Amino acid sequence: MAAAESDREVPSALCTEFLNFSAKDTASKWLQVTDLYKEVYQHLASYVPKIYCLGPNLNPQSEDLLAQLLLQAPLEWYLCGEDPSMGLAKLEQNNQPSQLCGHVFRVGEPTYSCRECAADPTCVLCMQCFLGSVHKEHRYRMTTSGGGGFCDCGDTEAWKKGPYCQKHEPNISDSCQEDPLAHLSTDMIARCYNVFSIVLKYAVDMLTWDKENELPLGLEPPDRGDTYYCMLFNDEVHTYEQVIYTLQKAVNCTQKEAVSFATTVDRDGRKSVRFGDFAFCEQAKSVIVRNTSRQSKPLRVQVMHSSVVAHQCFALKALHWLGHVIGYSDALRRILCQVGLERGPEGENSSLVDTLMLCDSKMWKGARNVYHQLFMSSLLMDLKYKKLFAIQFAKNYERLQSDYVKDDHDREFSVTDLSVQMFTVPSLARMLITEENLMTTIIRTFVDHLRHRDLQGRFQFERYTAQQAFKFRRVQSLIGDLKYVLISRPTEWSDQLREKFLEGLDTFLELFKCMQGMDPVVRQVGQHIEMEPEWEAAFTLQMKLTHIISMMQEWCATDERVLIEAYKKCLTALTHCHSGFTDGEQPITLSICGHSVDTIRYCVSQEKVSIHLPVSRLLAGLHVLLSKMEVAYRFPEQLPLSELSPPMLIEHPLRCLVLCAQVHAGMWRRNGFSLVNQIYYYHNVKCRVEMFDKDLIMLQAGASMMDPNHFLMIVLSRFELYHIFSSADCRKRYNRENTNKDVVQQNNTLIEEMLHLIMMVVGERFEAGVGQVEGCDQIKREIIHQLCIRPMAHSELVKALPENENKETGMERVIDCVASFKKPGVTGRGLYELRPECAKQFNLYFHHYSRADQSKAEEAQRKLKRQNGEDTALHPPVLPLFSPLFASLVNILQCDVLLGMLGAVLQWAVEPSGGHWSESMLQRVLHLIGMGLLEEQQQLENSSEDNDVSFNFTLKISLCGCILGPGEAPSNTASVLALLENLQNAHHLEVHKDMIRWILKTVASIKTIRELTAFTCTVTASGSHGQEEMVCDKDKAERKRKMEMARLRREKIMAQMSEMQRHFINENKELFQQSLEELDASTSSSLEHSPTSSDAALVCVGPRRSCPREKRQVVTCILCQEEQEIRADGKAMVLAAFVQRSTVMSKNRKRPPHDPEHYDPLFMHPDLSFGTHTGSCGHIMHSHCWQRYFEAVQAKEQRRQQRLRVHTSYDVGNGEFLCPLCECLSNTVIPLLPRAKGSSSCEQPGLGQWLKTSGQQIKAMHSAHRKLQPISVDAVEETVEEGCPAPEGFRVDYTPTSPYSSTIKEMLTTFGTATYKVGLKVHPNEQDPRVPIMCWGSCAYTIQSIERLLVDEEKPLFGSLPCRQDDCLSSLARFGSACWTAASQPSVQGHFIRLVAALIPDPQVETSPCILDIDMLHLLVSVVLSYGSVHSQDSSGLSVDAVQLHLFHLITVAHMVQILLTSGPEEVTMEQESEGAEREEEEAICCLYNTLRTHLGSSLPEVGSGWHLWRCVKTGILPYLRGAALFFHHLNGVPTPPELHALCPGQWEVLCGYLSLPSNLLQLYHSQQELLEPLLHGWCSHPSLRQTLQGGGVLVSFPRESNSLIDLPDDYSALINQASSFTCPKSGGDKSRAPTLCLVCGSMLCSQSYCCQTELDGEDVGACTAHTFACGAGVGIFLRVRESQVLFLAGKTKGCFYAPPYLDDYGETDQGLRRGNPLHLCRERYRKIQKLWRQHSITEEIGHAQEANQTLVGIDWQHL
Ligand SMILES: [Zn+2]
Ligand SMILES: [Zn+2]
Ligand SMILES: [Zn+2]
Ligand SMILES: [Zn+2]
Ligand SMILES: [Zn+2]
Ligand SMILES: [Zn+2]
Ligand SMILES: [Zn+2]
Repeated sequence: MAAAESDREVPSALCTEFLNFSAKDTASKWLQVTDLYKEVYQHLASYVPKIYCLGPNLNPQSEDLLAQLLLQAPLEWYLCGEDPSMGLAKLEQNNQPSQLCGHVFRVGEPTYSCRECAADPTCVLCMQCFLGSVHKEHRYRMTTSGGGGFCDCGDTEAWKKGPYCQKHEPNISDSCQEDPLAHLSTDMIARCYNVFSIVLKYAVDMLTWDKENELPLGLEPPDRGDTYYCMLFNDEVHTYEQVIYTLQKAVNCTQKEAVSFATTVDRDGRKSVRFGDFAFCEQAKSVIVRNTSRQSKPLRVQVMHSSVVAHQCFALKALHWLGHVIGYSDALRRILCQVGLERGPEGENSSLVDTLMLCDSKMWKGARNVYHQLFMSSLLMDLKYKKLFAIQFAKNYERLQSDYVKDDHDREFSVTDLSVQMFTVPSLARMLITEENLMTTIIRTFVDHLRHRDLQGRFQFERYTAQQAFKFRRVQSLIGDLKYVLISRPTEWSDQLREKFLEGLDTFLELFKCMQGMDPVVRQVGQHIEMEPEWEAAFTLQMKLTHIISMMQEWCATDERVLIEAYKKCLTALTHCHSGFTDGEQPITLSICGHSVDTIRYCVSQEKVSIHLPVSRLLAGLHVLLSKMEVAYRFPEQLPLSELSPPMLIEHPLRCLVLCAQVHAGMWRRNGFSLVNQIYYYHNVKCRVEMFDKDLIMLQAGASMMDPNHFLMIVLSRFELYHIFSSADCRKRYNRENTNKDVVQQNNTLIEEMLHLIMMVVGERFEAGVGQVEGCDQIKREIIHQLCIRPMAHSELVKALPENENKETGMERVIDCVASFKKPGVTGRGLYELRPECAKQFNLYFHHYSRADQSKAEEAQRKLKRQNGEDTALHPPVLPLFSPLFASLVNILQCDVLLGMLGAVLQWAVEPSGGHWSESMLQRVLHLIGMGLLEEQQQLENSSEDNDVSFNFTLKISLCGCILGPGEAPSNTASVLALLENLQNAHHLEVHKDMIRWILKTVASIKTIRELTAFTCTVTASGSHGQEEMVCDKDKAERKRKMEMARLRREKIMAQMSEMQRHFINENKELFQQSLEELDASTSSSLEHSPTSSDAALVCVGPRRSCPREKRQVVTCILCQEEQEIRADGKAMVLAAFVQRSTVMSKNRKRPPHDPEHYDPLFMHPDLSFGTHTGSCGHIMHSHCWQRYFEAVQAKEQRRQQRLRVHTSYDVGNGEFLCPLCECLSNTVIPLLPRAKGSSSCEQPGLGQWLKTSGQQIKAMHSAHRKLQPISVDAVEETVEEGCPAPEGFRVDYTPTSPYSSTIKEMLTTFGTATYKVGLKVHPNEQDPRVPIMCWGSCAYTIQSIERLLVDEEKPLFGSLPCRQDDCLSSLARFGSACWTAASQPSVQGHFIRLVAALIPDPQVETSPCILDIDMLHLLVSVVLSYGSVHSQDSSGLSVDAVQLHLFHLITVAHMVQILLTSGPEEVTMEQESEGAEREEEEAICCLYNTLRTHLGSSLPEVGSGWHLWRCVKTGILPYLRGAALFFHHLNGVPTPPELHALCPGQWEVLCGYLSLPSNLLQLYHSQQELLEPLLHGWCSHPSLRQTLQGGGVLVSFPRESNSLIDLPDDYSALINQASSFTCPKSGGDKSRAPTLCLVCGSMLCSQSYCCQTELDGEDVGACTAHTFACGAGVGIFLRVRESQVLFLAGKTKGCFYAPPYLDDYGETDQGLRRGNPLHLCRERYRKIQKLWRQHSITEEIGHAQEANQTLVGIDWQHL
């Protein structure tokens, strides 16, 4: 087909050449020549311009075909030396397929990584490989590919385990090491070599060619015409819209064409937008340049000669061809690699591959993509050449990166992006480090690109422009490369590796030196800073480097020699930094308690301070490693420990921590948000590991080497609190300190912060190396403290924990030890709860708590303790031991300076005054005392026997206080212990009592232990003491038991109470919904259940209908709160209602939408393809109250639209409003009407009599209606029949008066018009005769939909509906029976006549549908409701009830016939022996069926078993009967039989009884056979019936199953895979960016994209909105596959996102697919969505979502 087409378009000259051309001959000629290169170039020079680019409209198919025949075929012949189809097949036979899968990912394709086995997160598998791998059973991560990159299956270095899938498992018998070239003859190798070098050279020449008007030597075309292209190139600066707009102007194209040009430019990187002579193209170029140069640099445009473009096109084709050919054989692939990497004439780095790489940034996107792909399938698939290529890549690295930084294309289009394919291979990375010094190269290149420095050479991002920011972003990709190189740590070190790594570290330290102290801040006093300084760049740099820093340390941790060298280098760097720092800082001496220390004068609040200290922090990290790896103890002589100056080490970290404290204390308010943000990030989980945590470690390291008193004095001095604690009378702070409230407040906070810092220095021991812990203890502790705040979902925990470079937190290994998992319900997510035994590890002053976390955790833990009946003291936890290197830190707790501070604060607490003291201060002091006590207790318990425990905190706190000013005598102050005993009775410290009591108790118990051990040492333990203790223990146990009992009792009572409460709420859920029926029930219940009325069976239709008692119905208006009786002549009361079109029950989604203007809705087809649903929230208002409300809403909306363009969730212009009580979306109101009066019970006619009377009435109406019409020609003939007299009592000319008050009449019109307008999608027209039809239809459709819902939810027919639906149905039914009064009587009578004619043939009605095309419930509802218009003229005493029953019976018979006609063929049945009544039914049904067969003959299959038929009828008719019961119940208000309020057997009989039907329905037919037989005949002889039965139309069988949303796969990746192969249906073969699945019908759509926009009612809408109108009558439910998100749409303007039904193992959704945990279908959640849909609640749901989240209102939903 394609060939035939292209033949026609080939110019005839070429056609002859084409016919005469022989590839074989050309190839053999080439075999003879000496200069093959010249020969082939000549061939290309003459043919390429004849094939490619011959005009404005390119025809790729014919071009490709010709290129194949004229250009590629001779090459293949030459290559193979024989017919290529044979030769290539032979090659393929000898092929050793690569063990690497190498599948290149499409955009959006799912990729899998194993979190247990992958060497790093970049190692991924394609779906096929994954499913055949062992990792399927592991903890894996699923992501969608951004395109590019390939499957790593088969790469043994990428996987710690299971590197092969089943398919790529190597064959053990194969010796893979064999040289692939061994299979080829030398001749073949030579030919192959020739062809590849010429073709590759040609392609490289052409793709890197930058002249617009000439060609490389040897390619000049024989004849060149004046044909040019105006070529537009892609850039990342201009937007789609700009390009489209410009093109329309420049080349005069339509918008559609412009969109297509722009799409291609974006995809391929360039596109010719004009073809013609030079001037013509030049003109377009100048317009484009002129139009786009205003804001930025202009779009790139070139006018290129057509032959240049042609050769470039073929060059791409040639690369494709190479990729194709090497696919046949690994030998060919190897030759191509060899050719590519062969050094060119210009020496080093001049191979063809080098040339391509080095020109990368000059090429357009399409060309880059093609050659990158070729690289991937050749160089990267051959293990030998991958290495050689990697070396070339590393050699060019600096140049490539610089080109990339200057370029503006995304990295995925740059050759630098290939780094991941090589650098992540550990052996290659190691080789590149040692041989090419790659690590140093990368860091140096990076540093070279960051050029903004201050005078000291530090980075300075202060005045940094958008352009620099852009460049900075691009430079960051280098850090990514560094990460790849470092990601796998060496297991073995060679000397060379050590040398190169340390060289890299040196460069890295150079980088750090530029960062140490960058962006310093100075406290702003007086006025606020004028401009927020730039801070983000510095933090971005820090954040990006975080993992690198950690990895560097991990590398050091694998080799002692490297660690020692690194430590030395780092220390030198730090010393170097400090030498430039300390200028002008004068030395001073501090002294307290007889201790004194020399330091410098420095105030954080006055001088420069920087938060960036990477050198110090790296040193801190290495210092911990010294301890962890025990290097510090084993090789102390090799370490420069003597050079360490502890004060220097702590200086800068301390300043940084003080800065944070001062910011908290509000001292830096004038410095603006920039500083607040920096402090935030400093502590944030993303940065803290290499910032805050390391500063703390540095303080610990420094303090451990110092006298604790000295350390604390320096701390006091840096906190600027020294003056408070150093004075002799510091305990009388309030006497002497300045009374400026702000300063006091500031100092209080600073004291709190400082106490906290001391706690952290002594207490944070969970870093392996600092304390004696394992790595997992740290993470356990983090998790415990998160869960102490509250139970958390998996993702929340992940967010709160630091991730390593592999994006792992390590949480999964330990979570089960500390938490238990609670599964989610239908909403919400799964939660982890802390195991109760872990609560004792809670530390209120956990260093990673923010202040908010801390207070939340405190509250939660106190509550928990209260619940457990424990005291509420949150005392410190028992801590692990310090490592020896840090062991001396505990002495801080018992040093004089600290005790002095503790005593001072306690003294302030005893005599509080003014604001000089705070409770948090006291709380911290108590905590510190607790820590001291626990430390002592622990040491005592661990000490083997004798009194060797030198840590004696209890002793120290019982001694008198000894705060000493310089050189003063000790004053007699109270001891800490004495102060505590004193505080125990203070009234103002109620909260802390438990803690103080705990402290005193612990002191006592420590004393006991001390005494005991002392005692045991000297004498044997005294018995009495032991006994005492035993008694004490016993007491304790008893108390505990009692407490436990009390707790259990309390819990039980609480549980009972909450159960009762829940019950009460459930019972009264809708209490506030004042319901009609409830009121009815409450007024009449006593009567209804009295024996007199309950004996008679309840009947809802017909003359025997049970008469409900007459009672007043009184309701309350929600707006004015006044009560109002429902009366025909009273004020109208209305229900808020929402009418919508629906296809929920459609059995035929292919039916095209009706033409709204001409559609006749009188008969509903049984496929129910379009219906009108009415729902209500059940809230009742006066009609006038509602009108006033609605007018107010309208006015407000008008004002709002004028003022600001804010949208609302509802469209007032379209009559929409929110229910004033519940904010439910509504678009009209239904009036409440009184129930129809019961009828007189005089003798009523039988069916025969009624048929006759009714026939006469109809005739009389016909003639009456004709009189009304203008005289026509036909009328003359029919005058004969005019004489037909009306039956007695029927007055055709009588016009009844409406019984309703004017307000009710008005509301009748309102609701009728709304239903008509929405249901038909037309403009409102209250005169249209279709108005009542739409109302009846909506009543029937709503009943059917509710009936289906009850079945689906397995609920009984009556009693389970919420009041609002009951009210809604009653109003709908009664409205339907009254709506004729608001319409023209003759037209309603006309409807009635036509409806009846469908059952009883009427010669005067021209077209009646065949009974197979009628939905019987719609017919029943319409005919019953329209009868009112006829009955109003009848005064003969005929009751409405009698007529309703006759009509109902007739339609029921018709429905039985309908079911029999459509019942499928008999299934294979067992012979059923039936008896009694059943037998009777079966015989009767056979009889009826056979009658039908006599009418229809062979159109109906023969059915032997009556059992089958009866079963079909019974199940098929049930929904109809249930619908009828709902209808008559609500219309006539007859109470329902209790049996139908439950799902119990015997429903059928009760239902039939309630409907006044015999339970053997066949009796309806048999008892009136003579009357019905003619009707039956009439139905069967309808012309279209036979046609439909024979397959001519849509045949619906009964019962109609409920529609479900489509089945979804269990595994979400199946959907991703399906979506990734989905291509946009409009732009041939392009991948869709936002594939979206319709959950109603299963269509995949290309959403949110220009390509698939269509016009709907004159507006451009996206694919989803367009589909919504066809598939869901305006309502749509979609799954956005890439986002894992459900989308609800309604109309063009409404939409919301909804949680998808897919959950991960932790019970969480992953909207946006960010976490990548495997997702599986949660059926309950999907059912919930389905229920929303079946209930018609989608629009309501959107309304609520939009009300809750206003940003949803602003989204352009119609473009999705
Ligand atoms: Zn694969
Ligand atoms: Zn595989
Ligand atoms: Zn695995
Ligand atoms: Zn009112
Ligand atoms: Zn409401
Ligand atoms: Zn599309
Ligand atoms: Zn659909």
